[in-house]
Formats: sequence, structure tokens, C-alpha cells
Amino acid sequence: MHELGIMRNIVSIVAEHAKGYTVQRVTVALGKLAGVDGQALHFCFDVVSRGTVLEGARLELREIEARGRCRRCHAEFATPTLYTPCACGSRDIERLAGEELMVREIELDADSIPDLPLSARA
Ligand SMILES: [Zn+2]
Repeated sequence: MHELGIMRNIVSIVAEHAKGYTVQRVTVALGKLAGVDGQALHFCFDVVSRGTVLEGARLELREIEARGRCRRCHAEFATPTLYTPCACGSRDIERLAGEELMVREIELDADSIPDLPLSARA
């Protein structure tokens, strides 16, 4: 199950950005052709986040529809599989979306953030 390794990476990236603050929500963009199982990601998140600042946080997966552009006729269309041909018959397709797997948003628990001196505020 490669979702475990993927989730380890996600948790360590988010923990690094959280800088010790408690994380409430993590939003991950997941392309439908990324080859990653969303349910397995949820399961691995619960396992991997245990004992980190992400423990108890909500994992939100934002599914991204796959799209491609034909290199022959330049049409743009939905590609439910990696092998979806263009309406013109061409299989020379440039992938525009659908293979993403990235952290989009992190929401921190405001109560875990100490008051900053005014000079440190942006
Ligand atoms: Zn075409």
C-alpha cells in the first residue's frame, strides 16, 4: 500500500509548516488519475498522524477531474482514464489535470497559537 508512504510525506510536510501548532484541518488535492486511493489515504492519515501535531485533525480530499488536450486537433476534454482517446481518434494527449497530489490548505487551531508581540505581526 503506497498510500502509507505518501501519507508519511504529507504529515511530515504539514507538521513542519505548523511549527508546533495544533493542526485542525488538512486539505489535499487529489487527481482522479493520481493512482492513489482516497479511502486508504484517510486510513493512513489516522495511523500516521498519531502522536503528531496533526493528531485529531480532519483530512479533506478535494478530488480533481482529469482533463487532457489533444496534440493533433488541440481539443480539450475530460479523460476518465489514462488511455481515453480524443474524439478525433488521436491518443497523443497532453495531460492538463488529474494527476495532482498536493497539500492545498492547512488550518491551525487558533487557541494553540500564542499571542505574538505586535512587531512580529505581518
Ligand atoms: Zn484530437
